[in-house]
Amino acid sequence: MNKFIFNFSSKEVKKIKNPKNILGGKGANLSEMGRMGFPVPPGFTISTNVCDLFYKNKKKLNSKIINQIKSELKVIEKVVKKKFGDLKNPLLLSVRSGARVSMPGMMDTILNLGLNDETVKALSNKTLNGRFAKDSYRRFIQMYGNVVLGVESHHFEELIENYKLTKGVLLDTELDESDWDGLISDFKKVVKEKTQKDFPQNVYDQLLGAISAVFLSWESNRAKIYRKLNQIPSEWGTAVNVQSMVFGNMGNDCATGVVFTRNPSDGSNDIYGEYLINAQGEDVVAGTRTPQYITKKARKDANVKDPSMEESMPKVYKQLEKILIKLETHYKDMQDVEFTVENNKLWILQTRSGKRTSKSAVKIAVDMVKEKLISKKQAILRIDPSSLDTLLHPTLDEKSEINVIANGLPASPGAASGKVVFTSEEAEKLNDMMQDTILVRVETSPEDIQGMHAAKGILTARGGMTSHAAVVARGMGRPCVSGSSEIDINYESKIFKTSELEVKEGDIITIDGSTGRIILGKVPTVKPEISGDFSKLMSWADDTRKLKVRTNSETPIDTKTARDFGAEGIGLCRTEHMFFDEERILSVREMILSKSKEDRAKALAKLLPHQKKDFVEIFKIMDGLPVTVRLLDPPLHEFLPHSDKEIQEVANVVGVDLKEVKSRISELHEQNPMLGHRGCRLGISYPEIYEMQCRAIFEALVELKKNKVKSAFPEIMIPLVSTEVEIKIMKELVNKIAKTVQEENKVKIDFMVGTMIELPRAAVKAKDIAKHAEFFSFGTNDLTQTTFGISRDDSGKFLNDYIDNKIFDIDPFVSIDEGVEDLIEIAVLKGKKQNKKIKLGICGEHGGDPKSIAFCSRVGLNYVSCSPYRVPIARLAAAQAEILKK
Ligand code: PEP
Ligand code: MG
Repeated sequence: MNKFIFNFSSKEVKKIKNPKNILGGKGANLSEMGRMGFPVPPGFTISTNVCDLFYKNKKKLNSKIINQIKSELKVIEKVVKKKFGDLKNPLLLSVRSGARVSMPGMMDTILNLGLNDETVKALSNKTLNGRFAKDSYRRFIQMYGNVVLGVESHHFEELIENYKLTKGVLLDTELDESDWDGLISDFKKVVKEKTQKDFPQNVYDQLLGAISAVFLSWESNRAKIYRKLNQIPSEWGTAVNVQSMVFGNMGNDCATGVVFTRNPSDGSNDIYGEYLINAQGEDVVAGTRTPQYITKKARKDANVKDPSMEESMPKVYKQLEKILIKLETHYKDMQDVEFTVENNKLWILQTRSGKRTSKSAVKIAVDMVKEKLISKKQAILRIDPSSLDTLLHPTLDEKSEINVIANGLPASPGAASGKVVFTSEEAEKLNDMMQDTILVRVETSPEDIQGMHAAKGILTARGGMTSHAAVVARGMGRPCVSGSSEIDINYESKIFKTSELEVKEGDIITIDGSTGRIILGKVPTVKPEISGDFSKLMSWADDTRKLKVRTNSETPIDTKTARDFGAEGIGLCRTEHMFFDEERILSVREMILSKSKEDRAKALAKLLPHQKKDFVEIFKIMDGLPVTVRLLDPPLHEFLPHSDKEIQEVANVVGVDLKEVKSRISELHEQNPMLGHRGCRLGISYPEIYEMQCRAIFEALVELKKNKVKSAFPEIMIPLVSTEVEIKIMKELVNKIAKTVQEENKVKIDFMVGTMIELPRAAVKAKDIAKHAEFFSFGTNDLTQTTFGISRDDSGKFLNDYIDNKIFDIDPFVSIDEGVEDLIEIAVLKGKKQNKKIKLGICGEHGGDPKSIAFCSRVGLNYVSCSPYRVPIARLAAAQAEILKK
């Protein structure tokens, strides 16, 4: 395609198949709004293809593109009747990034472009507003100086602060034209000193410099990190939007603001946003002035006096309200809209789907179905399954003692406790040491993104609900309290003060992002419930999906949680976890260290009642549902004692001396325990261990049956099978014990025997294995480990290098790899060929990963199994997979 630049009103845009891919989200929507007749300042979009060309052309714009830019500028000049660089009526421009998906605050923007020492005079004469012209020029030098010329912004900010201090004023709005004159000259000096060059006076140089800077910001560190966190491909590139400036800072009949068509925090169907009179866009998001509410209702709810836009600019507000309704109906989603009012005229600068909390995402999706704006299927697809995580996480236990020391805005819901840190670096450092932190900042900036990710929660002293901290925290699902004017932060002495006390770095606090409370100390939390809109959405998901969702659980408490979250059985009960209990570990050690079969049998006899009790409880909770019990899997040495005291304890029980126990421990040592004596290999060497476990299962079932208690349906699973003979021997063992227990008790028991498929050989020879297995459960943790030959315990050390070198897009232990998918597909085909009715499931960690769940659905598994808290995520992901399959 030879066309690189598209005017917002260009008809050609209509012909583009995926406008967002070429024009970016912002460009596509500006152009669409222009065609819908909304008041959009004229402009054009430089396509994402140019970003690619720019990087291929040694980070330079080629002459063909420069010429197209110049001719498109002429079109704008004609419409607005101003000229770029003119000494009478100069056109000023905004230059803004815009990728396919919105990456708030991650890339660069330059406003007021086209001002220089001469055009600023023209602007002043034309508007009869010298203060405004000078304010715009200093803003331009500041922004351009920082973004394009790389002068750190604090150099400029410090100059303004000193100026205000000398003049004895608090607010920027209290500075007059001559003050800005002085600052403009100081700003230019800073630029000269830091870059060894004068601030550019040629407006075309300014424009090309700004466009290049926006392209360069695509590869900035913060943008790269954001892409990595959100899995955005680097090839997409950004578009650049060049647009005629409109001014919100020309006087008191001007304003600028950000508004959501619904409340992004709780999802209620009320217009929600903030604005500032006599200001430019960056003032609202930067958090330097506290913005006012848009609607009267929101102002009253917040108990604030400063008038809302609805009250101070009623006519413009009405017009805005109408546009918001039209936008939402058109895009069928909650919109986040930026606007400016210039001399009482409303301009729309941007619309996009608004970022929202998980709670509001669910409410908005359900409400929009009720309003007949979207279908149930669309509602299901609207929610990112992983984002439900925040809804499933605990909230503060209101019954416990809560010492509120200050309050702020409830910017992103959820509760978090941790040590106070004042820098992102410290948050990252403590995170590496597995310590929880709360990042406390006056305000956050895009540089803080990694720290915000590392912290458990974010607290800021400045900024509203649309501040950087609030938007980013909501997107990440981190609890956040923003704009707490009740705290006073001192970075140097690493403390923050409230009216009553001082909190030091390292002190523990709790923040409640749902109410805005800041609390001293750690507060206990309670488990959430699935109810209201959430359960409605889940019921739609359940009606849609075909995949069943089970849970991995071996304790009654987890089993109960999972059942409450909608689990339809247990897909993996790891019996070895039951062995670690304090009461049992000694008998387990006694069993392992026994030299003879008889001694081992004695120790196993002690374990039997414990295992039986566990099964009784779990089978009761999962009444009527399947429960897959896996026989002992890990290498025995995992249970061995480490300290001398523990070794002595075992020696006493077994009745041998310390030395002998120690020598047995070293005998059990393995070079590669994950590939060693584990899984069914233990069952082959020590059948009595598996016999005890089977007896415990069957006796539990007998007990329930005798007591007329409804029980789960047991599926006995053999781990780490790779050959037909292994499963054959193991199945005979299970059947032998089943027969014995049934005869002893004269009770009939129903059960199944199956195997895990977690070794490549098992997948490839699935047809033979299926002769003896009634079900397969894919153990994708081990299958990934053995397919790659990468240790699942050590991969973390080099995983980042593999991601940085684009060998892996994502950790294969988190989201299933293509090669592992192929093995599963082979096993499914071969397994079904042998046994049409074979039951198929997955119980590796991938069973809770939405992308892997989509694969499981495609390949025809019957169920996925995941940890209890991921059950709702899996239910939704399974429904999405079903919808997208068609
Ligand atoms: C697996 O290997 O995927 C599995 C579920 O078993 P474990 O994680 O216990 O080895
Ligand atoms: Mg395994």
